[in-house]
Order: sequence, then structure tokens, then C-alpha cells
Amino acid sequence: MILEKLREVVCKCNKELPDNDLVKMTSGNVSGRDPETGLVVIKPSGYTFSELTPAHMVVVDMDCHVVEGNLKPSTDTDTHLYVYRHRPDVFGMVHTHSPYATSFAALGQSIPACLTASAMLGGDIPVGGYAPIGGADIGQEIINKIGNALAILMQNHGIFTIGSSPEHATKMAIEVEEIAKITHLAMQRGKPILLTKDQIKYMIDLYQNEYGQR
Ligand SMILES: [Zn+2]
Repeated sequence: MILEKLREVVCKCNKELPDNDLVKMTSGNVSGRDPETGLVVIKPSGYTFSELTPAHMVVVDMDCHVVEGNLKPSTDTDTHLYVYRHRPDVFGMVHTHSPYATSFAALGQSIPACLTASAMLGGDIPVGGYAPIGGADIGQEIINKIGNALAILMQNHGIFTIGSSPEHATKMAIEVEEIAKITHLAMQRGKPILLTKDQIKYMIDLYQNEYGQR
């Protein structure tokens, strides 16, 4: 079996999605790109998270040909590959329909940076326009709208996060849901106080220096 270590990491990260209440049933997926071969390891389509093992992961090339694996890759594979092709700095990607963040997507609203933790994701979490599932449209919309953020909401759909590794992108998916939940709760009782550009920049510098991200 090729890419055994990456298979293990991607499998573990996929299991973290239900463990953190970010997904139900079979929706949601994590992928990782191998820096040496450029091959991508991704969750198989329609598979229950609890049953996943590293051997179930599907290895695909940049043209979505299955290189190794007996199962069909996730229906979102084209979206992941589009992003990898256009962002050489990205080595991990996550997609979920986590409820608080997706409620912003249902309203077509970005998540405003009103928490210091927002800086970890680059400030405001942008929202991309509606795009049908399965084609290249979602990938195009992500690349057009994500900017310097590590997460993007897709209108009427869910969330995509990116990172320097599958673990990093998974951590960002957990953070997005937490930030969305707190922001939602704050909005019930008033208008959240937005961070200034300088405050966001200060926090981004702090996160970069402390954790060596990005
Ligand atoms: Zn989805």
C-alpha cells in the first residue's frame, strides 16, 4: 500500500469530524496531499466514519484518476483537487455541514471577526455564492472568494477549510464551528463588537509566531 502514513493521518482526521459533532451520517470529508508525489488521499464516498480504516482511503492523482483503492472517492473530490491545483501552499482540506457555521451559509452571511480566535482563520470567514455539488464550480468559487482566509462558507451548503496539513485543516474546521456558535449566540443579544484590522493583524502575527502556521 502506498502513502501509508498519509492514509493513517487522513483516516484519523476524518474520524475527528463526528467526534467533534461536525458531521452526521456520511456527509463531510477530509483529504491530504502528499508533498513528494502530489497524490491526494481522500475519504471514500458514502462510507460511515466509524467503519473507516487507513486501507479504505482512496488515493487519486490531480486528474481524479484512482491510483490506489477499491472504493469510489468522495463526491467532493473534484472540489478538493481544484483547490489543490490552484493553491500550492495547501496540503489538507476539510468539508463539513457543521450546523452553526452552515446556518450562516443558509443566510448567505459571512462570519464577522468578533473574536480573537477569528484571527487564526485570517479574520472574517467569507461566503461563496451558490454552486452545484460535484462539479468544478464549487472549487472555482472557493478559489475566487477565500483570499487569505483558511475557511469559506458556501451559500446554502456548508464549510470548506484549508491548511498546511490535514491536521491543520481539521483543527480549522473545529474552530470555525466554535466561532460560528459563539457569534450566533452573541447575535441573539446584540450586535457583536468587530475587531479592527490592526487587532486582527496583531493576532495573526501572534498565531503565526507561536504556532508556526501558514
Ligand atoms: Zn457538502
